[in-house]
Amino acid sequence: MPLIIIILLLIGIPIYFFPSLVAHSRKHPNLTSLFVLNLLLGWTILGWVGTLAWAYSKKHEVIVEIKSTSQADTQDVAMTKKCPFCAEEVRVEAIKCKHCGSDLSKSSSVETADPHVIRSGRVN
Ligand SMILES: [Zn+2]
Repeated sequence: MPLIIIILLLIGIPIYFFPSLVAHSRKHPNLTSLFVLNLLLGWTILGWVGTLAWAYSKKHEVIVEIKSTSQADTQDVAMTKKCPFCAEEVRVEAIKCKHCGSDLSKSSSVETADPHVIRSGRVN
């Protein structure tokens, strides 16, 4: 094999997979699909540039997204409880379930109450 081909491969392969390397070093969440795109469309200039742009752009957005949803989740968990009548999430301060209209003012004891009380609280 001529030396020039080996040199071209040594230089060309890292350049060709540069978007994937960027995505990998940035711990891109869509690394696999990005690599596939890089592999299949990298030979087109547009595909290569697009993959590179994707490798640089997405990570920040996704992290912000994850942060905001996890914050919202923890807030939701802290602020809500499960309605003992319909098992829907309702606010902790609620005295009446917005889903089934049950009285929740003494809900902590209702969870162990007998089924007749629960049935009478439901409107079907
Ligand atoms: Zn309910």
